Amino acid sequence: MSTAKLSIDLSALCDNWRSLDAMTSCETAAVVKADGYGLGAARVSRALAQAGARRFFVAATEEGAALREALGPGPQILIFSGHMPGDTDMINDLDLIPMLNSVDQMLRHVEGLPGKPFGIQLDTGMNRLGFEPAEWAAVRDVALSQNPVLVMSHLACADDPDHPMNAHQLARFHEMTDGIDVPRSLSATGGILLGPDYHFDLTRPGVGLYGGLPFADALPVAQLTVPVIQTRLVEPGETVGYSNTWTADRPSRIATIAAGYADGIIRAMGPNAFVEAAGTRAKVVGRISMDMIAVDVTDISEDVTEVALLSASQTVDDLADAAGTIGYEILTSLGARYQRRYKG
Ligand SMILES: *Cc1c(COP(=O)(O)O)cnc(C)c1O
Repeated sequence: MSTAKLSIDLSALCDNWRSLDAMTSCETAAVVKADGYGLGAARVSRALAQAGARRFFVAATEEGAALREALGPGPQILIFSGHMPGDTDMINDLDLIPMLNSVDQMLRHVEGLPGKPFGIQLDTGMNRLGFEPAEWAAVRDVALSQNPVLVMSHLACADDPDHPMNAHQLARFHEMTDGIDVPRSLSATGGILLGPDYHFDLTRPGVGLYGGLPFADALPVAQLTVPVIQTRLVEPGETVGYSNTWTADRPSRIATIAAGYADGIIRAMGPNAFVEAAGTRAKVVGRISMDMIAVDVTDISEDVTEVALLSASQTVDDLADAAGTIGYEILTSLGARYQRRYKG
């Protein structure tokens, strides 16, 4: 067996969904864009639907179409990017709900699919997607007369509870939506943790479901174990890997493991990353190659046949720190070459 194994704990995933749900008194959806943050949207969504999730968000209509096949009829599937040119048939045939972001999208929807459900996305300051306040004021009455299923916006700084942007966006959202008789949603994982003022009628957690910050109490969901291909002794003064960036300063035992940057192991984390081998931390040495990584197992007396990059004690956010990125990028970079195993 020469490829790494990605184990996905569906019962931990569902526990995370229930924990986030228990923090609010409103409905909790699930965000499964980017193939369920790299963990497999079909399996993840089926497990969450069994746990009680009734609404799923994805980024693109194509993702929604694949998800409908996995989930079957029933659960709502909502599309953040809205109704794009060319999407009309897929939205109609697969019963998807676009979150409309602009007047253009609204026209495309009401002309192409009159009477078909849609939601509205508002921009409260992030300047990424959604109607701006003036645009919304102009179309609001027409839009509301068509009975949108949801009105939502997204927080730019919710992972930082002290950031003044949170209160600023909350106030904008109130100004744009108070008094309308449509369910409202403002919060993803970070917003749930900001407290009840931010919850409205529906929350949209993503990363917290998959074990990532800012949900510090999340259970780890992904475990990544990588087989050792070969182990060698290296004398002091010898180097390991491309460009000779690491030199042994003692007699060393170096294990070469079967994963690299082509598997989403971010090359930049090389000098800072560790793996777990036989319950001990072992340092990554030298450059991360496309398909292989060298690990210093000198201090481990046992024969090391596999190591863990993600485990209960090394989280996606630990790896993210080593790479100078965020847990979201670690998860969504996870490679296609892994054998995926689901449990729970
Ligand atoms: C990705 C996304 C979410 C989920 O965010 P997390 O931080 O992963 O919980 C929710 N809403 C929108 C609009 C998003 O783009």
